[in-house]
Amino acid sequence: MAKIGFVGLGIMGKPMARNLLKAGHELTVYDIVPEAVEEIAAAGAARGASSADVAAQSEIVITMLPDGPEVEQACLGPGGVLEGARAGLLLIDMSSISPLAAQKVAAACAAKGVDFLDAPVSGGEPGAIAGTLAIMVGGKPEVFEKAVPVLKCMGASVTLTGPVGAGNVTKLANQIMVACNIAAMGEALVLAAKSGLDPEVVFNAVKGGLAGSSVLNAKAPMAIARNFKPGFRIRLHQKDLRNALLAGESLKVGLPLTSLVQQMLLALMNEGKGELDHSAIVQFIEQMAQAEIKKPA
Ligand code: NAD
Repeated sequence: MAKIGFVGLGIMGKPMARNLLKAGHELTVYDIVPEAVEEIAAAGAARGASSADVAAQSEIVITMLPDGPEVEQACLGPGGVLEGARAGLLLIDMSSISPLAAQKVAAACAAKGVDFLDAPVSGGEPGAIAGTLAIMVGGKPEVFEKAVPVLKCMGASVTLTGPVGAGNVTKLANQIMVACNIAAMGEALVLAAKSGLDPEVVFNAVKGGLAGSSVLNAKAPMAIARNFKPGFRIRLHQKDLRNALLAGESLKVGLPLTSLVQQMLLALMNEGKGELDHSAIVQFIEQMAQAEIKKPA
């Protein structure tokens, strides 16, 4: 069993930390929100005073933070992981960040003799709770092999997709597909609802055919029940699509659909909906149609 540090106890980090505890690992945790630390301490983890303190107590540190700036602050900034790290520590960043930011953190780690993997996840809060996340990893194969047993406590699939940064490129590809799927589902179900059909009946009719998908199964029932509790927040998906567009620009890859959905997410954030689940992308389409995805009255 390893001594593991965990930094970032949000929607995803909390259940992931719980699964590491359940597997018998010794955990030290930190978040800038003290209540989050207390919650996981009550489940058996030790409290870290800072990211540096967590690193000083651990052989492996996992970070699960919103975006690149927070990862850089928590790893490279004052009181950060590298301040407390000894040579030989393994830092696994499981946040979804820009591949370039992951490579920047990896270079700073290498200068201190610290190994680094970028290992973002898919599967959302339900996957984090069940320990069935899909984990996509970038890094050296020999470092990856060391991390696999720990990652398996949180995920059903753990795949090395290339060198550092490759985990996040894979995650961006995932996020493009999920966002465009939700937007397409929104258009389809708004059309059905405004035609007077019951969207639940339409969902049940199509879900076994070619239009069926994990996205449809997870998000259509939320839209129909008018339940937009996160889940995965609009503001985080906007951040992912922004990172995808930046990567697309630097590689000269046009991403017209991604760019369109990113504009929808920005508009929803301006309406104060940034903390809603990303299934609320449908609300953008509902507003244009002046119709909601719900059972006919
Ligand atoms: P969240 O906003 O719920 O949690 C982030 C946590 O990080 C918060 O508790 C916050 O207090 C903490 N934090 C921020 N800055 C910090 C710092 N400098 N030091 C210590 N703690 C700090 O976000 P989340 O939904 O748990 O997502 C985390 C990451 O996982 C994001 O990159 C997101 O894109 C990705 N992700 C989320 C989901 C999902 O469904 N929620 C799914 C897959 C991937």
